[in-house]
Amino acid sequence: MRNFEELTKQMEAKGIKPSLQRLLLFNYMQNCHEHPTVEKIYADLSAQGHALSKATVYNTLTLFVQKGLLRIVQLDHSEARYDILTNDHAHFICQKCGMIYDVPVDFDQLHLRFDDAGSVSQRDIFYRGVCRRCMNRE
Ligand SMILES: [Zn+2]
Ligand SMILES: [Zn+2]
Repeated sequence: MRNFEELTKQMEAKGIKPSLQRLLLFNYMQNCHEHPTVEKIYADLSAQGHALSKATVYNTLTLFVQKGLLRIVQLDHSEARYDILTNDHAHFICQKCGMIYDVPVDFDQLHLRFDDAGSVSQRDIFYRGVCRRCMNRE
C-alpha cells in the first residue's frame, strides 16, 4: 500500500475524515485512470480481498465527489464513471473498446457564448472515435 500518509493529508484538506475504507478507495482511484464504474471498483477491491460492501463503495464515492476529490463522468445513458482527475479536461471515448481517455484541452480558449449561464460548475467535452490501439489492431 502506497503512502497512506500523503493520501490522508489530501483527504483532510478536502474536509474528509480518513477511515481505512476511504483510504483504500482513494488509493485505488489514485492508481486507476480508466474512469471505472461502481461495479468495477467493487469487483476489483473484492478481488484484492477487501470486504467492502457495494453500498459502502457507492456512498464513499458520492462523498468524494461532493467534496471535490473525484468527479463523475457520465455518458449518455450509461452508468456513472469516476474520475480521479478533477481539473478541466476533455474525454475521448473509443467506440470499439469502450476505453475513456483523458484529453488535455485549454478550456479558456473556448468562449461560452451563452448569456443565460448564471454560473458554470463543470465543463465537459467528449470526443468519440476509434483509439489508436484499436486502429492498429485491424
Ligand atoms: Zn479502442
Ligand atoms: Zn478523465
